[in-house]
Amino acid sequence: MGPHRNVDTLRNQLSMSVSSLYLHIPFCEHKCIYCDFYSVAPSETRPEAELPTKRFVESLKREIELRSRDERFRVPYETIFLGGGTPSLLSIQELKEIFETLTGSFFVEPDAEITIEVNPGTVDPEKFRAYRALGINRVSMGVQSFHEDDLRFLTRIHSSTQAKQCVRDAYAAGFENVSLDLMFSLPGQTRDRWVSNLKNAVELHPTHVSCYSLIVEPHTPLAKMVETRQVSLLSIDQDAELYESTIEFLAKSGFEQYEVSNFARPGFASKHNKNYWNHSNYLGFGPSAHSFWRVDEADESPGRWWNISSIVGYHEALDRDSLPVAGGERLSREQLLEEEIFLALRSEGVDVGGFQRRYGKDLLSNPASGLNDLISRNMAVLDGGRVRLTPRGYLVCDEICASLRI
Ligand code: SF4
Repeated sequence: MGPHRNVDTLRNQLSMSVSSLYLHIPFCEHKCIYCDFYSVAPSETRPEAELPTKRFVESLKREIELRSRDERFRVPYETIFLGGGTPSLLSIQELKEIFETLTGSFFVEPDAEITIEVNPGTVDPEKFRAYRALGINRVSMGVQSFHEDDLRFLTRIHSSTQAKQCVRDAYAAGFENVSLDLMFSLPGQTRDRWVSNLKNAVELHPTHVSCYSLIVEPHTPLAKMVETRQVSLLSIDQDAELYESTIEFLAKSGFEQYEVSNFARPGFASKHNKNYWNHSNYLGFGPSAHSFWRVDEADESPGRWWNISSIVGYHEALDRDSLPVAGGERLSREQLLEEEIFLALRSEGVDVGGFQRRYGKDLLSNPASGLNDLISRNMAVLDGGRVRLTPRGYLVCDEICASLRI
């Protein structure tokens, strides 16, 4: 329990929705060939060198304390997400210190959803039990594939057997909410091979599955391999076929799609993800973390800002007692409005009445918005006052978002 104990008073004073905290833990045991998230790994020339986690935790605690001094952020927080990087590389003592600082600085709801991202190969039953004891109640596991050759291609550090054991260990330690990340459209992947991955996943009884298509990010080793034709990617049609089989298979297995890439058993949609997509406020900590906070029109402060993407620069700023912010932007009313629609379309749909109340715009009677057109082409449906995409619409979500005119 932090210093802001009277949550009802706070809610009444601020009359705003609950918010989220994100902590970026910038360490990995090894950099996967496709990844462009900011993280550092031991160098190939000095693989035995220890990751500087202790120093990082000191800076992170400092950042949390500095940020919490701002009155605006004294609101209840409903979710915490430890992402990265590989948060499971931190020791239990380091995590304990981070949580003590976090809950001493911000009011975290007693029933907050608290997620940690883990990679198989970096956790064991004892660590999982310690996570539970710290109050962590959700695990998001980077599995990517259950085929050994896929894992080797992606340069993951773990085997399929380790991934399966890791899920069992999480359940045995008392976790009731386990999410698996899987990746499709890997070179040469057939529909059968991808569906067998989904089957393997479902047999482990996860509550949530995230399925992402392999994206070639610039400046990654994978981008180089594609450029030099060592690797050929699947075609757009093949990618679409795999995506459609994902939606079909997971629906048959009892999962509800609540975002383009996210599927959950009823009641297990990630609150943290939903807060992002509902355009709720969130504070990000750690190198490269982003934050978003709604500000009123008279306020000069940025609505979105991001931290320095360098662990050295991050430490330098905090050693000077400065927040490690690299940049920020004020969002105009039009930008906010557009973002809100795009985020809603990617997830649970646009609440047409709510949108009209907030922005004074009736999206359905305005043909330029394109929403009616989407409905007539079976790309979207009007359901309970929300315009939500159908599986066909999800398939071309990016194109739809790019073509909408609000
Ligand atoms: S473990 Fe995750 S964060 Fe680390 S390099 Fe691989 S994909 Fe990126």
